[in-house]
Amino acid sequence: MICANKECSIDFDPKTHNQKYCSDECCRIATNRRIMEKYYEKKAIRNGAARGCKKCGAQLSRYNDTVLCAPCNKKIDINKRSKIKGMIDEIS
Ligand SMILES: [Zn+2]
Ligand SMILES: [Zn+2]
Repeated sequence: MICANKECSIDFDPKTHNQKYCSDECCRIATNRRIMEKYYEKKAIRNGAARGCKKCGAQLSRYNDTVLCAPCNKKIDINKRSKIKGMIDEIS
């Protein structure tokens, strides 16, 4: 078993089947790092950075206030327009 703490990564014999870290210290370090990563992620979102497009996952510009990137927004616009056009064609 390789310790799940990337900075440690030593080979160890797990005492329990779900043991991921070689020691309590490694478990604590890795847990702390996860908490810090979450914290910075939230902070980045609040600062308007690193949001992903809901459709394709592309990074959104901080000036984009929608949940989709510009190409996806355009695609939806075209779909909407062709649907409306289809409806008009049906009527006339
Ligand atoms: Zn370790
Ligand atoms: Zn997109």
